[in-house]
Amino acid sequence: MRTIIDGHLDLAWNATSFDRDLRLSQDEIRTREQLMTDLKSRTRGTTCFPELQAGKIQVCIATLLARSGPATDRQTGYARTDLDFAHHIGAYAAAHAQLACYHLWEQQGAIRWIRTLADLEDHWTKCNGESEPPLGMILSMEGADPISDPDELPYWFGAGLRAIGLSHYGHGQYAAGTAVEGGLTEKGEQLLDAMAKLGMGLDVTHLADQAMEQAFDRFTGVLWASHHNSRTLVPGQRQLSDQQMKSVIEHDGVVGVAFDAWMMYPGWARGETDPNVVSIEAAADHIDYVCQMAGNTKHSAIGSDLDGGFGTEQTPGDLNSIADMQRLDGILSRRGYSDDDLNAIFHGNWMRTFRKLFGGCAQ
Ligand SMILES: [Zn+2]
Repeated sequence: MRTIIDGHLDLAWNATSFDRDLRLSQDEIRTREQLMTDLKSRTRGTTCFPELQAGKIQVCIATLLARSGPATDRQTGYARTDLDFAHHIGAYAAAHAQLACYHLWEQQGAIRWIRTLADLEDHWTKCNGESEPPLGMILSMEGADPISDPDELPYWFGAGLRAIGLSHYGHGQYAAGTAVEGGLTEKGEQLLDAMAKLGMGLDVTHLADQAMEQAFDRFTGVLWASHHNSRTLVPGQRQLSDQQMKSVIEHDGVVGVAFDAWMMYPGWARGETDPNVVSIEAAADHIDYVCQMAGNTKHSAIGSDLDGGFGTEQTPGDLNSIADMQRLDGILSRRGYSDDDLNAIFHGNWMRTFRKLFGGCAQ
């Protein structure tokens, strides 16, 4: 099996919001959820530490995920989800609960938290050695709302945060995100400048079109699109337009293919479309699209998002666990991808990006 680096997982969100003990087997987690009816994804989860290990996923970017948005957008009767908080203090607190979760896993030896270039190289050496190290984890934030103010950024860097996506769904404090239109806010511009100064990475995924264009122009550090597919293959603002994909490539960034069927299959209706209409081949289509656009295999990667609030009701029909991503190996080989190409897509392109990121961090 080939080592996989997964550029996007929401591990601690699953533990703290969905009460999932990711150290258990997939079967055990599913069994424990049999009487739970709060979410469609109950009994259908695909991601836990044993399955990550079974699929040789040895490094991931894992998130802190909570959102609040600008207070002016709040209206009476606003429908809260487990992600949404009426004031940024809620998002701040939720992100800290997730932070505590990563600390606990680190203490338990369930993860290896990668904070520096030395950590990265040490972990990578172990990945290629005899022993099997725990999952390597680089901490990112999906939606920057937990950060009260750009001045607070050194605190978050000290806490281990190494990358940020400014927005998630809707209007955030720092930028417009998925499903809405708009640009960066003034604080968003300040945050980007502060991130570049500290050597933190920018994840452009979930930025609205205008905000993404502004971010490409302004941000001077290392950037990528962690879990993002092609808008030409699957229409919709959540996907990268050809121009946006070109911009990521021009910045020497990578695009991580997402395994959320909604982003893989045109016209997917959440909760309605049968997962069997889409297979893992579709992920290969999106990978191939990035490679054709770049004219090489240096900018395509994996960012599965497989624990992003959905389970097998919204994954390709032939995917039962995150370990099934290994099937990409055979699919891409049959399409003519070489061993070197596959190593680049599975892990090499992320490693190049991480080395650049940690090489520039104020550590
Ligand atoms: Zn996402």
